Amino acid sequence: MIDANKVVSLQYSLSVVNDDATETFMEKTNEQNPLVFISGIGNLLPEFEKNLWGKSIGDAFDFVLNAEEGYGPMEEDKVATLPIGIFLDEAGKFDAELIKVGNYVPMMDNAGHQHQGLVVNVGLESITMDFNHPMAGKNLHFTGTISGIREASPEELDHGHVHGEGGHQH
Ligand SMILES: [Zn+2]
Repeated sequence: MIDANKVVSLQYSLSVVNDDATETFMEKTNEQNPLVFISGIGNLLPEFEKNLWGKSIGDAFDFVLNAEEGYGPMEEDKVATLPIGIFLDEAGKFDAELIKVGNYVPMMDNAGHQHQGLVVNVGLESITMDFNHPMAGKNLHFTGTISGIREASPEELDHGHVHGEGGHQH
């Protein structure tokens, strides 16, 4: 049964629920590559784990997380207009194939962290990018099946990740 400090393997499918109640498929695991994680140590969205608590191997799940429980609301201040100069390469060229509306582009912030930004507008002198999580503001519909549960080893708990199959090989 799933409670704290278990190594859980599961198959899942994720769709986002649109405003008109239709759903858009996002991602799913396959038989060979289940999602493997340690429960109760903050590896995954807390509300996702909460819906799995008490389940056993072979149990199915089907639940919706609202945006607050998922990746949070859309935040206007995560949409930034950036001068086009920072998108030019060393030769002063602009990569129009990469920097186009709808593309995700890796950007570095002042602290050296990388963020994926979605290009939402390309102007003559500036580029507008959205740094919200791609699933921010969305309700998330998860379905799937629990395929494995075992005790996490003290070493795995110490490292904060799974060892062996589906985890770190060290
Ligand atoms: Zn380790």
